[in-house]
Amino acid sequence: MTSTWQILIGNVAVVMLVVFGWGYARSRLFGLSGAMRGALFGATMGVGAIATMAMSVEFEPGMYVDMRATLLVVAGLFGGPLAAVISGLLALGWRIGMGGAGMVPGIVVITLFVLVGLVGRLLIGRRRTKVWHCLVAGGVAALVWIGALVAVSQGPIVPLLLNISVPQMLLNVVATGLAGMVVLEARRRSAERDLLAAALAQSPDFNYIKDRHGRFAAVNNTVAEFNGFTRPAEMVGKTDFDLTTPERASMLSAHEREILSGEKPRVDFEELFVDKSGRERWFSTSKVPLHNAAGQIIGLAGVTRDVTVDKTLRQELVESRDTLSYALAEMSDGLAMFDAEGRLVFCNEQYRACFPHTGRLRQPGAYLRDILQAVVETGEQITVPRHNPEAWIDAIVANLAVESEEEINLFDGRWLQLRTRPTSSGSTMVVIADVTRMKLAELALHTTTNQLKELVRTDSLTDLLNRRAFDEAIETETRRSARAGTALSLLLVDVDHFKAFNDRYGHPAGDECLRLVSQHLKASIRRPTDLAARYGGEEFTAILPDTDAESAQQIAEAFRRALAESRLPHESIERGYVTASVGVATYPPENLHRDPLELVRTADEALYRAKAAGRDRVVGTRIIGKDRTAA
Ligand code: GH3
Ligand code: MG
Ligand code: MG
Repeated sequence: MTSTWQILIGNVAVVMLVVFGWGYARSRLFGLSGAMRGALFGATMGVGAIATMAMSVEFEPGMYVDMRATLLVVAGLFGGPLAAVISGLLALGWRIGMGGAGMVPGIVVITLFVLVGLVGRLLIGRRRTKVWHCLVAGGVAALVWIGALVAVSQGPIVPLLLNISVPQMLLNVVATGLAGMVVLEARRRSAERDLLAAALAQSPDFNYIKDRHGRFAAVNNTVAEFNGFTRPAEMVGKTDFDLTTPERASMLSAHEREILSGEKPRVDFEELFVDKSGRERWFSTSKVPLHNAAGQIIGLAGVTRDVTVDKTLRQELVESRDTLSYALAEMSDGLAMFDAEGRLVFCNEQYRACFPHTGRLRQPGAYLRDILQAVVETGEQITVPRHNPEAWIDAIVANLAVESEEEINLFDGRWLQLRTRPTSSGSTMVVIADVTRMKLAELALHTTTNQLKELVRTDSLTDLLNRRAFDEAIETETRRSARAGTALSLLLVDVDHFKAFNDRYGHPAGDECLRLVSQHLKASIRRPTDLAARYGGEEFTAILPDTDAESAQQIAEAFRRALAESRLPHESIERGYVTASVGVATYPPENLHRDPLELVRTADEALYRAKAAGRDRVVGTRIIGKDRTAA
């Protein structure tokens, strides 16, 4: 039965031819819808089935065996219902045309084969089709064949099975398996290629491949569009000389020669273009050589990206950094930045220049603690406490995170103002300004103000307190002594016959005399709390806190005697020298109902009595309730 084998093997060849043919054609069918591709697949399988039927083995008159099962099963298994129906209809049409005794069984088996493919498809479902699925389907189809043969054959069964069914079954399984492998492989390849083609075509970058002669072998949509072509294929075979200016084409070609000669493994460059709308656009290009399996360079691949946004951002960054460093370098203040650990991160030259002793130390990376240690050691800052400088350093480092403003005085007399401002990122900015001039002016102003205040309270002739200061002081002392429950005395002094002194010696000499009187009064009061004042004209007064009547009397007496003993000549009067009379008033501790006016009035009355009694004497009065007692 060699001829059965021969014919069936020939059938297998036809099957393989059809399947391979489909595999090849499939790669050209991109752009076709799934249904169209299914219909075409079904038609191809159907035509293949007809081809095998045309080469069938006639085992009994009008009855044929061939490889139609393989293609009909494969049509359903891979192409789905549409392919199965189309292939089935084509095969049925042919079989009916052949006629003969086996026509009806032929129609039945063709239908069954189509069903085997479809049921197989259904069972596989969404899973991936495997080669063993094809082998099983081929086996089932072969069993259908055997069943049909046994059913229709008139002759002896055993030779029929041995001679026809064995080769038919074996070849059917093998052919279906092989056909499945081919279809699966074709599918896989075309899926891979579709993916790559889509990736290349749809990439937003410019992708292109060139051959050894600088001709475009493949480009993506972006490249084609940029160069004014509607389809990438239109650019194949073109060179840069067809697309751009001769200068630029020469530059690109020089780069490419370096790559293609193997001189440079890669070329990267940036170019500025002005696009159609007049906008400047930056492009970054990388090109690499492509090698074949033998390692020879066969072309190059290039990718160009629009980096306008990156480039603009980079430029803006550089410009703003330059502006900032310029501003920091030119500003008059010193500026420093410390991180959260107290490490100097940044400072300008002015900051360093502010500190003659520790400026060298103030470099990025230095710790504030070490800098302050050096400040203590060098005595750079005179406001540093001598005792326990460690605590001072601790406090400054701890307060770095707190907003503050402080003025420090340096050893060379300069004053610096330090403004500390913590930032949201945890670091701290310190701005330092030299405020020496302002500070000195402020100190001078302070001194002047104090002097003015003193002047307002001082009598210019005698340097004693003036009447205004006395009025304030007597008020204060009266209240204070009442609170404390202590005595309070007041002396009221009047120079005797002073009008005559003036008349005799003149006003300037009178002034000189008043100065002498004031000096004696000042010398007579001893305690720091005692106050001497010029009450007006040639009248003086002394407030003596915590001083009883006897002591006040003694002080007044000492003054009177000292003045008299100075023997300032006063030749207009009998005594021949200047004297003064003193009235003393005292609140003893028992009397806490005190009134400054009452005190002054009482002293004035005592003075009057001293004058009346012949001058150059002291008269005292104790104020005890409404009664006044002469001291
Ligand atoms: P008595 O002993 O009664 O006090 O006689 P007196 O001449 O001192 O009388 P009175 O107290 O009334 O005289 C005050 C005189 O003091 C009048 C005025 O010429 C003089 N005088 C007042 N203030 C000044 C002053 O600032 N300088 C000078 N040189 N004389 C003054
Ligand atoms: Mg007087
Ligand atoms: Mg007088």
